Amino acid sequence: MTDDIFDHDVLFIPGPVEVRREILDAQGGWMIGHRSKAFADLYARLQPKLKEAFFVGDGYRVYIYTSSGSGIWESASRCCVRDDQPVLHLVNGAFSERWAGVSRENGKQVDVLEVPWGQAVKPEQLADALKQKHYDAVAVVYNETSTGVINPLPQYAEIMRGYPDTLFLVDAVSCWLGAELDTAAWGIDLVVTSSQKCFALPPGIAFGAVSDRVLARAKEIPYRGYYFDVLTLEKHHEKNNTPATPPISLMYAADRQLDAIRAEGYANRFRRHAQMAGMVRAWVERQGFAMFSEEGYHSPTVSTVRNTRSIDFPALQAHLKKQHITLGGGYGKLKDETFRIAHMGDAQPAHIERLLSAMDAFLAQA
Ligand SMILES: *Cc1c(COP(=O)(O)O)cnc(C)c1O
Repeated sequence: MTDDIFDHDVLFIPGPVEVRREILDAQGGWMIGHRSKAFADLYARLQPKLKEAFFVGDGYRVYIYTSSGSGIWESASRCCVRDDQPVLHLVNGAFSERWAGVSRENGKQVDVLEVPWGQAVKPEQLADALKQKHYDAVAVVYNETSTGVINPLPQYAEIMRGYPDTLFLVDAVSCWLGAELDTAAWGIDLVVTSSQKCFALPPGIAFGAVSDRVLARAKEIPYRGYYFDVLTLEKHHEKNNTPATPPISLMYAADRQLDAIRAEGYANRFRRHAQMAGMVRAWVERQGFAMFSEEGYHSPTVSTVRNTRSIDFPALQAHLKKQHITLGGGYGKLKDETFRIAHMGDAQPAHIERLLSAMDAFLAQA
């Protein structure tokens, strides 16, 4: 994985990320019908691997969504919250704000607990909000990709234990398989992910771990739509298939990648992400920039850097492009203030080293 990959444009943006040749090639298998035995075998083979990757056992299943991660937002908002009960959204960046919007657009009553972007939502704040009133669900983005903040999920989990009637919904899109996520032990009811971030697959498929409690709640909600309805997904899941035609090629790729991740080891994979994040933070300090994220809550998978030196970022991007390196700018309202360095998926410390030296060279002549 450390051979010279810079013979093509390599992505250091927070999704889609660089995908290894072996994974791209795994998509080349012949097509099979999605109602065939061959497909049911593929589906059944993926299930235990996916459950392991989410750290879940009995009481959970992992659905395959033919959408990007946003589709699972809709599934969660729509199937986990009754229309006459509120949902609490923790907001500290662009993605958590957008998920709250998805709940509103599905007609739900949304309360927002918001902190300034760049900060983490503190456990005490969640505890206080839950004392005020009953919520059908709490929705949180574990790793805010816009600000580079990782929220203290294990501490939220301890608080949530006191509210067994409140579902715990977690967007782990930009950190699943890049940071620890102990879904069952932390009592999480639904995990939202995408394929094109730390899982390092092409985009177009998403995986959602769902607890029994979610299915029980969904039965109390009359209109759940069709495409993202968990009860429809469950009916087909029991037969090892999907309600509509799934992205079969991407399932081949997922099968291969789950084996590769298992061979690397989950703990090793999380350590590698933390190591790359540490390299980037040391560079930020050495070069006189500043982290946008609050101390103590820096993301292991994406670093949002304040452009305190007011460098010409488009010029830096153009410089990097000549060396086949693609770097991402700031997101949404943070576009001009910050830039982002993703260190996720199958990226290796040697690749990050290459990126940082290329940036050093630009800064030396700027
Ligand atoms: C990328 C991202 C999303 C959106 O995922 P899609 O796969 O593009 O739909 C949602 N949440 C977070 C935290 C993200 O980083």
